[in-house]
Amino acid sequence: MSCSGEIQSSDDELIQIKPKIVQQLKKAKYGVSDHSTVELCHWTRKSFKNEGDCYKHKFYGISTHRCMEFSPAGMHCENRCVYCWRPMEFYDSMKMEPENVAESEQVVSKLMEERRKLIMGHYGDSRYEKQKLDESLLPAHYAISLSGEPTMYPKLPNLIKYLKSLPETKSIFLVTNGQEPDMLQKLKDEDALPTQLYLSTNAADYKSFLKINRPRYEDSWERWKTSLRMLSKLNTRTVLRITLIRNYNDGDEMIPAFASMLRNSSPNFVEIKSYMHIGRSTNRLEHDNMLDMDEVRHFASKLSEQSEIFSVMDESFISKIVVLQNQERFIDRLIPTYTQTN
Ligand code: SF4
Repeated sequence: MSCSGEIQSSDDELIQIKPKIVQQLKKAKYGVSDHSTVELCHWTRKSFKNEGDCYKHKFYGISTHRCMEFSPAGMHCENRCVYCWRPMEFYDSMKMEPENVAESEQVVSKLMEERRKLIMGHYGDSRYEKQKLDESLLPAHYAISLSGEPTMYPKLPNLIKYLKSLPETKSIFLVTNGQEPDMLQKLKDEDALPTQLYLSTNAADYKSFLKINRPRYEDSWERWKTSLRMLSKLNTRTVLRITLIRNYNDGDEMIPAFASMLRNSSPNFVEIKSYMHIGRSTNRLEHDNMLDMDEVRHFASKLSEQSEIFSVMDESFISKIVVLQNQERFIDRLIPTYTQTN
């Protein structure tokens, strides 16, 4: 145990992603360290070339090229979602023991180094703006949301506190599938909540929850509902993210149940997006499971109407996403203290 009460681990006991999988991840341009992964996403690379920004820039003011997307639990998840475009076929365990995971500072410093190597490959190509590449080396925003489920990493509170302590940090987004409500409670108790907490919300009833998320825990629905109930009591920005999949959860008959869920959990924002037919999900779903933008708009506007407290705030056509804003628990869409530079 350390003086902070954390169980310390030695390097040779750390969980490792299997070499064969590391090879495949590296081919897909991931950086890997022990059990953690980092990636320069499509939009980060586009922003280096001044070819556009991620919707998080438009909606919340995040600087795309200074965003570091990573996961401390790259190959661990409790679900096997039908729409997951990450390599979830490799998810191999339901538990990360504290004595077998890297310290949070180690996770960050090793992934920063991996990310730096990925960025360095872009220097020397005149299509990429040098100033943006230079700036990107020091992240200002962290998106803890890459492959796997980050709340399975037992030292997550320390990780978020550490990121908050870095002088350049402006914001931290955390995306969870809601299967670890105890970890959310821990983040709250230890004053380690992220700037913005996302809960993936793809079903309003148990039957479609099972069909879409294909969870491994017997009590997965209870776990998820516990996480949902916590949202309205957390002192941080909260978002429900609904991924619409044709013939799974996009029917108008689903809207009343989603609307009542929105009223009860009262998040600050709701992001409604179409499933994207990319990555590994192409083995499980068809191109036709994607929705057109007009269909996403239709669902979002009906949902906003029936919820009575949400209104349409913005949309991103290219990402097929509409965002709703809670008028009862209204907060500014831009991340506080954040100055838009781009
Ligand atoms: S919860 Fe997220 S990481 Fe896990 S299988 Fe579903 S989409 Fe993939």
